[in-house]
Amino acid sequence: MTDTSFFSAGLKFSCKRCSACCRYEAGFVYLSKNDMEKLTGELKTDSENFIKSYCRWVTDRRGKEVLSLREKGNKDCIFWDKCCKIYDARPLQCRTFPFWESIVSSAQSWEIAASGCPGMNSGKLHTGKAITDCLEKRSAQPIICRRGK
Ligand code: SF4
Ligand code: SF4
Repeated sequence: MTDTSFFSAGLKFSCKRCSACCRYEAGFVYLSKNDMEKLTGELKTDSENFIKSYCRWVTDRRGKEVLSLREKGNKDCIFWDKCCKIYDARPLQCRTFPFWESIVSSAQSWEIAASGCPGMNSGKLHTGKAITDCLEKRSAQPIICRRGK
């Protein structure tokens, strides 16, 4: 279970729309079944074609093959083109940033992430309950996995 002590009094975050988290650097945007349903509905396609066109299988820390969005050659997200082209249907991972377990688990991991995101530690105060809700949504919507060790 996540230790909530670091964020129980809330954390400040308001996106400054700098686009740094959608562009420039390699990274993974993992997808759940729910994400896939929303995106295939938005793009009027089926999951097979969606995976072929926009996704890649990557190996996570546990050695499992999980589904992630693809990047362009310049490392921008496949859906970045001056803005997020699927904003209303964007994956849960994008919706819940920076309230991910890997980030809110300690002050140190929060500050490391904040060094690359000007929206963290400023703007709206998100309550501990709101942050816990983000973590619970992630647990309830597991990332699509193809194979495990
Ligand atoms: S890096 Fe932070 S401020 Fe910039 S777009 Fe991403 S969430 Fe918003
Ligand atoms: S899906 Fe949209 S919000 Fe998420 S990383 Fe790609 S461009 Fe950014």
